[in-house]
Amino acid sequence: MRARRALIIGGSLGGLLAAHLLRRAGWEATIFERNPDDLTGRGAGISTHPQLLEILARIGIDFDESMGVKLDTILCFDQSGRIYLKETTRRTMSSWGRLYRSLRDPWPSENYRLDASLIRLEQDAEGVTAVFADGTRTRGDLLVGADGGRSTVREQFLPERKPQYAGYVAWRVMLAESEVPPDIRAQLFEQYSFCLPEGELFLAYPVPGFNNETQVGRRAYNIVWYRPADPERTLPDLCTDAGGHCHGTTIAPPLIRPDVVARIRADARALIAPQLAEIFARAKQPFFQPIFDFEPPRIVFGRVALLGDAAFVARPHVGAGVTKAALDAASLAEAARTDDMAAGLLRYEREQYPFGSGLVALGRKQEGAYLSAQLKPREERSGAELERDINDVIIFHKTRSDNLRNVLFAARAAYTSP
Ligand SMILES: Cc1cc2nc3c(=O)[nH]c(=O)nc-3n(C[C@H](O)[C@H](O)[C@H](O)COP(=O)(O)OP(=O)(O)OC[C@H]3O[C@@H](n4cnc5c(N)ncnc54)[C@H](O)[C@@H]3O)c2cc1C
Repeated sequence: MRARRALIIGGSLGGLLAAHLLRRAGWEATIFERNPDDLTGRGAGISTHPQLLEILARIGIDFDESMGVKLDTILCFDQSGRIYLKETTRRTMSSWGRLYRSLRDPWPSENYRLDASLIRLEQDAEGVTAVFADGTRTRGDLLVGADGGRSTVREQFLPERKPQYAGYVAWRVMLAESEVPPDIRAQLFEQYSFCLPEGELFLAYPVPGFNNETQVGRRAYNIVWYRPADPERTLPDLCTDAGGHCHGTTIAPPLIRPDVVARIRADARALIAPQLAEIFARAKQPFFQPIFDFEPPRIVFGRVALLGDAAFVARPHVGAGVTKAALDAASLAEAARTDDMAAGLLRYEREQYPFGSGLVALGRKQEGAYLSAQLKPREERSGAELERDINDVIIFHKTRSDNLRNVLFAARAAYTSP
């Protein structure tokens, strides 16, 4: 009997995880990625959770010391640079690039097609056909939409459902460890640091370096700074290039106007602890990502399954997008072992829908609620929207893995077999 064939759209972490796990479940899997070149470090620090490590181990990837930077302390800085709270923690910060290489390197290149941009798909009782921008068509038994928060696959089935803007952006920088002044490096480098300007949230931590190294001296320092940006004026202004062209709700980093970069650096000097502001100001190319979330009515459409950010987008405070993609991929691969694909995909949807939905809800709580509420008049805010307490912020961060596990338990408890 021929192996069943999965077409996986999107060659980032979700697509690679699905490909490895489907292959272990007896499928032949091919990944189609729209970028013309192999993806490289996107500069993102990624928090890890036990579920992600367990799934990587199933694929044969040992999460050893080379995969991330271990941290044991959280520091909270005030604007003057004084530490006003110190807490213990246990976490390993990996990076998008490090995880990508660990999944991409063992995957055969003939089953990873670059420059393959899906434009639409067609399906019938026997199979599904992917149609690409260059006119080529490929047939399979299952199509996995792992094509991210702006999924083309999802768009075909749910054209009216759009990701919802949360009212704030995440400014991000990454600076090589060697470029961090030694006194600041000694104070900050092994820790997870917070700064809480009114209405904003600034986080900073070490991650594997630009070439994915985790040795001392070769790591990098990663900053994520959440700032409100109203969708009518501030966001369009941030997304307008030097020629006056507005790129919508996001803009490629090199096109961010010099005056916007100068302003964010000046704001860092004015609002953030000087040690952290210094690192922020030294990074060559600050860039921002608008924060969206998304919850679909379904994640399975015939022979098509959505996975990772293509299915649900939870706000990044949850710190679990990659672990969610891994859990989606594991559930899908298990469900795909059955010969009755319709039943298998129904099982996948029933397992992973409540999980994705629970993570979206979690991301809207606490910090998510507080940051979104900054665009409302103060008298209209209530509960978590109104005030925040540094202890609550720290607890929310320290218990990320517990929160994820609780959402997963609740989702599994809600599961009813098809
Ligand atoms: C500020 C911020 C911080 C974050 N921090 C964390 C964290 O600490 N921990 C964590 O786990 N997660 C974090 N995340 C979330 C995490 O980055 C995502 O959840 C994760 O990358 C989703 O992976 P994915 O493979 O589903 O989608 P993506 O990584 O978006 O990949 C989609 C892929 O599909 C390709 N593609 C798109 N359309 C097509 C098409 N038509 N044809 C072919 N290919 C296509 C794209 O080129 C891309 O390579 C963070 C996100 C943000 C914004």
